[in-house]
Amino acid sequence: MKSIGVYPGSFDPITKGHVDIIKRSAKLVDKLVIGVLNNANKKCWFTPEERKELIEKTIADVDNIEVKLFDGLLVDFMQQNNANLIIRGLRSVSDYEYELQLALGNKTLADFDLETIFIPASKDYLYLSSSIVREVASHGGCLEKFLNAEIIKDVEARAKDK
Ligand code: ADP
Repeated sequence: MKSIGVYPGSFDPITKGHVDIIKRSAKLVDKLVIGVLNNANKKCWFTPEERKELIEKTIADVDNIEVKLFDGLLVDFMQQNNANLIIRGLRSVSDYEYELQLALGNKTLADFDLETIFIPASKDYLYLSSSIVREVASHGGCLEKFLNAEIIKDVEARAKDK
């Protein structure tokens, strides 16, 4: 049986911290689905389709990965993809508290075998979040340390429209 994992998130935009989790978790499963949350009540810089394109541009070199949009319950998305491993990254104690709630909520909701795997952030990206990237971009700061080169221009262009 193939192991299929899902790495869900907003990815607004995808950062080097996300890329690190993607590359490390892609080695643990046969297939990794990156689930881009189409979250109507969260104000994002990029539409779900744009966030998907930015991810695809960034990780074009990893081949057991598929990027998909989803809304609604994560457990339903898991089932649609025959996946039973949720991958999440952990940076801090505050991430842990939130992530533990999500993991237990999802486990309780699922009527199939479902586990969440936490991958610790690499020390270089412990501080990094999409919101820091948006903040730096909106003040014209250098994005090289935070984003893969392929998408820097897209994020700079969006910052100018804001
Ligand atoms: P969400 O809105 O679901 O938190 P994010 O795109 O902010 O979406 O994050 C998706 C996942 O990636 C979360 O598990 C988050 O903890 C993790 N993550 C975000 N940034 C990093 C990073 N720098 N290092 C490791 N994991 C990260």
